[in-house]
Amino acid sequence: MRKGADMSKKKFREFVKSFRIRLFLLFLAVGILPTAALRAGMLQSYKKKAVSNRGVDVLGQAKVLSNQIILNNYLKDPSIETINSQIGQLSNIYDGRVMVIDDNFQIIKDTYGLDTSKTIVSEEVMRSFRGEEISKYDSENGYIEMTVPLADLESKETIGVLLVSVSTDSIVLNQVYLENSARIIEIASAMIVILIAAFLARRLAKPFRKMAGEIFEIQSGYKTQLDIHDYTETEAVCVQFNQLFARMKVIDESREEFVSNVSHELKTPLTSMKVLADSLNGQEDVPVELYREFMSDIGNEIDRETKIINDLLSLVKMDRSAADLNISSVNINELMELILKRLRPIANRQHIELVLESFRPVSAEVDEVKLTLAITNLVENAIKYNKPDGWVHVSLNADHQYFYIKVEDSGIGIPEDALEHIFERFYRVDKSHSREIGGTGLGLAIARNSILMHRGAVKVFSTEGEGTIFNVRIPLIYIAS
Ligand code: ADP
Repeated sequence: MRKGADMSKKKFREFVKSFRIRLFLLFLAVGILPTAALRAGMLQSYKKKAVSNRGVDVLGQAKVLSNQIILNNYLKDPSIETINSQIGQLSNIYDGRVMVIDDNFQIIKDTYGLDTSKTIVSEEVMRSFRGEEISKYDSENGYIEMTVPLADLESKETIGVLLVSVSTDSIVLNQVYLENSARIIEIASAMIVILIAAFLARRLAKPFRKMAGEIFEIQSGYKTQLDIHDYTETEAVCVQFNQLFARMKVIDESREEFVSNVSHELKTPLTSMKVLADSLNGQEDVPVELYREFMSDIGNEIDRETKIINDLLSLVKMDRSAADLNISSVNINELMELILKRLRPIANRQHIELVLESFRPVSAEVDEVKLTLAITNLVENAIKYNKPDGWVHVSLNADHQYFYIKVEDSGIGIPEDALEHIFERFYRVDKSHSREIGGTGLGLAIARNSILMHRGAVKVFSTEGEGTIFNVRIPLIYIAS
């Protein structure tokens, strides 16, 4: 039950969030609301105008009549036929009631015949006796009432009041008729607006549906490019998407290349071991010395395989996010001494002089294990790719922002065209030489990743046959991004 409710809630949210639906509603609002407002406003102003016209007309007629009343002295003799017929005409034409009131506030003529001889003292009548001409619209009961003073020709004094009230029913009827016509037109136009809005919303939202479709095709491998040129915005999305897709393809290719390199590198020691084992198995009466020799070769290949796997594991760890860094404040001078102490036996074996020069005490926020790995690889390379009786100089310096490690050797150097590749995984200038001296082609990739994780930089300068310099720069304080 709940699940069903959640689903329909989700469907409703999706419906409301749809660009097409929003466009549709917008067009609907723009198309329908103004017509409705126009209709209401026009009908209202029609009514006002019609009532005021009616008022002006009736007042004009009432004034003419009031002149006739005075001229014919009707107040003294309410039986004058011509005036009575004029009064009757006025009340008939406008579907109203006419009353003539004399100076005793007595009704001497009422076209309805209801209040003749009665006294009337309404506020309007009183004000008209003071000379005011009053016209009042009672919208609730639907009539206009006006009182016109009847002034004596000579003394100009008000000697009576003409009271006319006319019904506005015909105006209201007209208004209702107009309203009905307007409503029919409005409904018809609303239907047209709905159709146009639905059509336009569908059309305008089409490029986005097309985009989703094309992305699906790209995912399925039928297409390689997103091309939707309908809007500037869709074009911009396409450009960004295609760039991202191209980058992903490059990443994918490099991943494939990496996997094939890894398989190849891991296979090489295995092939050697297989050859060694097969040749032992293939011979009869193998002398013990040969056994020992081959078994020691197999042992070396196993060590190599282990080293490649270990290096790969380090590299994979480095490839992960910087969140994996285990940052602490480390005395870099001591760390460098320790690294060189560990490597000194290898250097001594090859008669290479290994010197550390610390210009100042340096303490920095680093991941001790990962930085050790990076520096060890650089110094180890400087020893490995050196000449007999050569030297390796390592120096440590710092300013207020960074510390600098320089690893300089008197080795074989790196050819210029190889310099841009040496940090790539499995890249080696001389494959067989590197393998001979136990290289995996991963050392510099590991070093570079570790340095980048510390938000540092590494640069290499080399002259073939003379030597190589690696310059490392790392911030003293780790900046987490
Ligand atoms: P490897 O395990 O082969 O040493 P690295 O990634 O550490 O792999 O180095 C890549 C290649 O760069 C090496 O094979 C070597 O050819 C070259 N290289 C690295 N360091 C030096 C150096 N100090 N002097 C000369 N060549 C070097």
